[in-house]
Amino acid sequence: MAWEIVVGIETHAQLATKSKIFSGASTAFGAPPNTQASAVDIALPGVLPVLNGRVVELAIRFGLAIGATIAPRSVFARKNYFYPDLPKGYQISQYELPVVQGGSLDIVLPEGAKTIRITRAHLEEDAGKSLHEDFHGMSGIDLNRAGTPLLEIVTEPDLRGAKEAVAYARALHALVRWIEICDGNMQEGSFRCDANVSVRKAGDDRLGTRCEIKNLNSFRFMEKAIEFEARRQIGVLEDGGSIVQETRLYDPDRDETRSMRSKEDAQDYRYFPDPDLLPLVISEAEIERVRAGMPELPAAKSERFIAEFGATSYEASLLTATKATSDFFEECLARLLEINPARLGMTGTGLADAKRMYGSALGKGILNLLAAQLNRDGIEIEQSRVLPKDFAHIHARLIDQTLSAKAAQELFRVVWDMPPAATVDIDFIIQEKNLGQISDLGAIERIVDEVLAGNAKQVEDYRAGKDKAFNSLVGQVMKQSKGKANPAQVNEVLRRKLKG
Ligand code: ADP
Ligand code: MG
Repeated sequence: MAWEIVVGIETHAQLATKSKIFSGASTAFGAPPNTQASAVDIALPGVLPVLNGRVVELAIRFGLAIGATIAPRSVFARKNYFYPDLPKGYQISQYELPVVQGGSLDIVLPEGAKTIRITRAHLEEDAGKSLHEDFHGMSGIDLNRAGTPLLEIVTEPDLRGAKEAVAYARALHALVRWIEICDGNMQEGSFRCDANVSVRKAGDDRLGTRCEIKNLNSFRFMEKAIEFEARRQIGVLEDGGSIVQETRLYDPDRDETRSMRSKEDAQDYRYFPDPDLLPLVISEAEIERVRAGMPELPAAKSERFIAEFGATSYEASLLTATKATSDFFEECLARLLEINPARLGMTGTGLADAKRMYGSALGKGILNLLAAQLNRDGIEIEQSRVLPKDFAHIHARLIDQTLSAKAAQELFRVVWDMPPAATVDIDFIIQEKNLGQISDLGAIERIVDEVLAGNAKQVEDYRAGKDKAFNSLVGQVMKQSKGKANPAQVNEVLRRKLKG
């Protein structure tokens, strides 16, 4: 029996503003408790919220990036509930009329692209934090986070399974950082996802009952949590039971989800428009002003990479997976032009030609060599120990055949292992470590002559039509040159001399 897993994701992205959404207090992370909570944030009587204009600008940026409708008029509402870290007794959010409506985000999977519809994105304030450690039998309340601006981004139930859900979360994470509306720091809680999961029999067009999983603070946990939860639901249904709609918590230590609260206990939040705040009115002119300041988006850049140097769409999506990756790549291309253009056959050519000639190979180099190393070390491209200028230089020496592919990898590793502050001189290291291959025709001819003279038997065999003899002669030349002869040249010289 085939089951289909259906997922919808709600993400809280903390907007990268200096001050809070309704007060002037700082949003900086990690300050001593309650040193960044103003009278508004701690809800002293008689204070009034004042909307931070920057927050609106960042929400518009997001809306434009996903092709959404920016609501000309949206409304802040009070979501009423009682909790110690919510001193007002309500959270200011948006309910019926959110600022961003509709839109979509494309995800690229190895098997192809898929469009995920976004239902809405609304503005709201974060709550404070309850601290349960360090207080014997009591809880501490830190209101530094209270009033931090959040954009809650909600998808339609378009995702099928854990892999797609993670691909979406990664794409969204990359996008909010790309357009610089959120720093994306998941450890500090700047980007938090909840996953709604249900299962149904393949072909059924009704949705199954869903559970919402909280506490997914890494992509890996998200994948495991959805996989566990789907297995659990399938198990219940196959045993003849039914799913109870509830909120569940993922426990990474035990790799399982546990019931947190059922929907029956769900509170009635008694939403109503906040009388302290005017409706948020956004003019067409304001939207155009924000649009004019938008960077080139990943999808557009990806299209450009495909057109400019024939990257495959999957490669292009990987090269634009984060802004840092595409910046690294584009800087490598620009630097390539500065390194002996004549030796690369690029005299008088510009960036466009360099891209056409070398973009594809350089892109592959970054995706294979660099990405593998980053993976091994578990770090991001921003922390790469080989800088774009040096990566470009190594690549240039591969193009001009100073280096064999193997030597280029070795050189990459040498540079990777150098102390962070060291000055890197690629050509000097090639000499010092004797990594260059012999491409000097005269030198190769001399070695070939020697080998031919000392191996009359193989020469005879080759001329009698035994192809194996040729490989053995190539092997001898490579051995004599200590593996440094350019193999393509060795082949060519050998064939020529054997003919004559
Ligand atoms: P709530 O406000 O109770 O969280 P919403 O209707 O806003 O509920 O849905 C929240 C998220 O749950 C959305 O991302 C939506 O796509 C997703 N969702 C709704 N129904 C299902 C379902 N049956 N299976 C999986 N996801 C669902
Ligand atoms: Mg929800």
